[in-house]
Amino acid sequence: MRKTKIVVTIGPASSEAETVRALVGLVDVFRINFSHGDRGSHLAEIRTIRAEARALGKSVAILQDLPGPKIRVGKMAGGSAALAQGSTVVLDASDAEGDSRRIPVNYPLLLGSVERGDMLHLADGVIRLRVEAVSPGSVACSVLAGGVLSSGKGINAPGVELKIEYPTKNDVSHLQFGARQKVDFVAASFIRSAADLRSIRRLLPVDGPMLIAKIEKREAVKAFDSILAEADGIMVARGDLGIEVPIETVPEIQKKIITKCNDAAKPVIVATQMLVSMVSSPIPSRAEVTDVATAIIEGTDAVMLSDETTVGKYPVEAVKMLDRIARATERSPHIYEIPTIAPAAHETGPAIARAACRLADYVGAKAIVAPTQTGSTARRVSMNRPRQPILAICSSTQVARRLSLYRGVVSTVTRQAKTVDWLFGRADVAVEEVGLARKGDLIVVISGTPGVKGTTNHIKVSVVGRKD
Ligand code: PEP
Repeated sequence: MRKTKIVVTIGPASSEAETVRALVGLVDVFRINFSHGDRGSHLAEIRTIRAEARALGKSVAILQDLPGPKIRVGKMAGGSAALAQGSTVVLDASDAEGDSRRIPVNYPLLLGSVERGDMLHLADGVIRLRVEAVSPGSVACSVLAGGVLSSGKGINAPGVELKIEYPTKNDVSHLQFGARQKVDFVAASFIRSAADLRSIRRLLPVDGPMLIAKIEKREAVKAFDSILAEADGIMVARGDLGIEVPIETVPEIQKKIITKCNDAAKPVIVATQMLVSMVSSPIPSRAEVTDVATAIIEGTDAVMLSDETTVGKYPVEAVKMLDRIARATERSPHIYEIPTIAPAAHETGPAIARAACRLADYVGAKAIVAPTQTGSTARRVSMNRPRQPILAICSSTQVARRLSLYRGVVSTVTRQAKTVDWLFGRADVAVEEVGLARKGDLIVVISGTPGVKGTTNHIKVSVVGRKD
């Protein structure tokens, strides 16, 4: 069993039913990037994913990634224009098509936020402009690094305090759609603070999706601790992050974020350019393979693909490659490290979860079983990064899908338990059903009193198939 979770962005290269069918057995969470496509394509993707998952008898989660206040280039005449180094370009918010001297932007507030001397990075940082003059409604810039600029490319203004609305009207409308479709996770883009995240949280239905904070702005890195406290999970969104902060600081930021998420028992996704050469090549670079393995060794819960599966030539091969790297890396003894934080004194649940992991090692158990009503018992076991797989026995499909982002957790859904003994019996059968253990194997089961929240106080070593 692979413990690392795989998040795959669906797009033109992967949204056909046949490709989704090839992916669904390998993927834990499908991400739909709402920066692209429209209602029709989003709905079609959700339906295809759910239909293919149903056909396979698997439940996969859907992550709705909101565009946020992403600043983009408008339409360029002929689709693109070459910007020459040393030339001057004017940015404005008109609807007219742009060219090598004029660039339309989709976000007029950018024009009122920048000052002379500010830098603008376009097309993933390939093109760099310096603001030379600001007039009402337009900004004149010199081109410091030129290149071909296509319609729709992103614009980043690192260090500029943007006068942005959060969430955007567009995000609000996407959230309403996502709530109707019952997506499992919502990812909030370009947040700067816990307050930005709360403004999204207020719009989510009660018991609705888990809220993932994308860390891609300098301000978000600074405010990380308060953002983590507010978030249900984190995405290290290295694409924009690598433009907003000096690119060489991204690895250290990634490592710090992963450690803090592990300690807080909140899932973390490492995203972007993990296997980017596979957009056009059937095999990745050695450096990419090492990058994926490093994220896993550092303790990430999930790794994510974007361009590789949305516009790449080898979407299925890229996912299979992630799967292979994850399985090989998980065999390394280096990745099993207990979190740096000890369970708080007098907190029974976290202490039992950690004890279960130790016990499983001592007795050579094949799996740790965590019946869980809200998911928290399984989450607590997962944060200890046990060597053994964790089987979460859930009474709701929603909780089971949400657990799909946690390292090492496999879920199964069963009816609500009435007694602890019933749960222990169920654990015994369930580990065999999902193929984690066989008759005669040892398993460690932890449990609370069914129906009473926060009472994880039982721990048992069972021999599968033996009544005692
Ligand atoms: C990123 O910037 O790394 C990211 C995941 O966000 P998006 O794909 O929306 O740009």
